[in-house]
Formats: sequence, structure tokens, C-alpha cells
Amino acid sequence: MIKMKKVSKWFGQHQVLNDIDLSLSKGEVVVICGPSGSGKSTLIRTINRLESIQGGRIEVDGDDIYASHLNVNSLRQKIGFVFQQFNLFPHMTVLDNVMFGLVNIQKRSKKESMERARSLLDRVGLLEKINAYPGALSGGQQQRVAIARALAQQPPVMLFDEPTSALDPEMVGEVLQVMKGLAKEGMTMVCVTHEMGFAREVADRVVFMDAGQIQEIADPETFFTSPQHPRAQRFLSDVH
Ligand code: ATP
Ligand code: MG
Repeated sequence: MIKMKKVSKWFGQHQVLNDIDLSLSKGEVVVICGPSGSGKSTLIRTINRLESIQGGRIEVDGDDIYASHLNVNSLRQKIGFVFQQFNLFPHMTVLDNVMFGLVNIQKRSKKESMERARSLLDRVGLLEKINAYPGALSGGQQQRVAIARALAQQPPVMLFDEPTSALDPEMVGEVLQVMKGLAKEGMTMVCVTHEMGFAREVADRVVFMDAGQIQEIADPETFFTSPQHPRAQRFLSDVH
């Protein structure tokens, strides 16, 4: 589903990703963790072509996504992206936020789009908020709308970049619950998160990054009970 081979990226003189090799098969959930500045966001953004790369290759569903002829818009329709800061359209209702891509990008009818949007909002537990504006919602509710909006395009892959780290602690659980549901239904997911409980319960593999490199990849049980890399050991004792 996703294949990264020797991916390297520089910002000017600064190498931010160094020979990243990472592959995910369909239905797999990978959690990426690591200290601030280690390159987690940059890595996940390369999978959606939100960054350029200077070395290596990334395939999504068999397509080389940095090939010059690739249509970036159709790539992004295949990959749902959920950001730390929700990024909802503030002047649109919850329903319109979720319908927007269905009507304007997928060119579905208003009626079909509305039905689909309502069912997605039901799934994330927000049916009673469809006419509210984002500003009137809690952070956890806004993030659930953002997930529903990303799911509207029926992407085979979902990427999450610290979706709960801007939330008050009491809202974290409701967002993780939605993500767990997706994982259980077989969604292929890459999640940057420091929620180690989520990683332990849901991840098939945990990736530990430091200084632009993948230092360790392991199943959660191994990673949490016997991390090999000294930096990972230190990281885990800090977050726990
Ligand atoms: P955090 O946990 O704080 O979100 P991160 O692991 O996601 O950190 P990145 O945001 O990927 O880290 O950043 C990796 C490195 O790249 C950092 O040194 C950062 O300063 C640098 N960097 C990120 N974006 C840019 C940019 N647009 N221009 C220059 N340098 C950048
Ligand atoms: Mg980041």
C-alpha cells in the first residue's frame, strides 16, 4: 500500500529525513513516535506530497508519487490527512465542511453528498451538531469533524499528525475512540502520536524516529517492554 525506499529530505543544509525505509501493507496501523524535531511530521507529509524529497522513492498503491506526471489532487483524494490543528472551514457548518469535497471534488449530487456526510457524522457521534459552526464546537468535536471530512473521500489510507495533542486531556479519548474504530475496520493508517496507550492497543508496528532516521521498528509489545535503542529507552521513560 505504501512503500518508502531510502527517502531523504533536506531543508537547505539541514538533512531532516535520512534514508527512510518503511512499508505498510493494506490494513496495517503504524504509529510513529520520537522526540520533537526528529522528522515525524516531515515524514508523514511526504506520503501526501506536502513536501518535496531529494532522494529515494515513495509508492502509494503502486504509483511513484513523486513522478512528474502524477496528479497530486487524485493522490490526495486517496489519502486522508488529519492535522493537529483541525483546519476546518470556519465559515461553513459542520455538515457543509463534510459535504464540501463530495460536492466540489467528487462531483456527487447534493442529496447523495448530504446522506453520506450525515452518516459519517453519525459515525463520529456528531449528528446533533450538523448545523453548528466549528467555532461553537469543542476541540475534540472539531477533530472528529475533521476525521469525518477526511473519510468522506473514502481514502484507502489515513494519515494522522498528532491529532490529539492540541486537545484538552478530557477530549483525547473521544478522538482516539474514533481512530480505534477505523483501525478495527481495517483502515491502513500512519499515526504520529505520543499516545502510547493507543499505540500499545492498536498499532501493528511502532516506529521510533530520532534525528531524521528510523532508529527502531518493532511490534508494540517488544517496543514497550524492551526497546533496543538507548534513545528510545530514554524517550519512553520521559513520556511515561
Ligand atoms: P514535533 O514533535 O515537534 O512535531 P517533528 O518530529 O514532527 O517534531 P518535524 O516538524 O518533521 O519534526 O521537523 C524536523 C526538522 O525539520 C526540525 O529540525 C525542523 O526545525 C525542520 N523543519 C521542519 N519544517 C521546516 C521548514 N518548512 N523549513 C525549514 N526547516 C523545517
Ligand atoms: Mg510534528
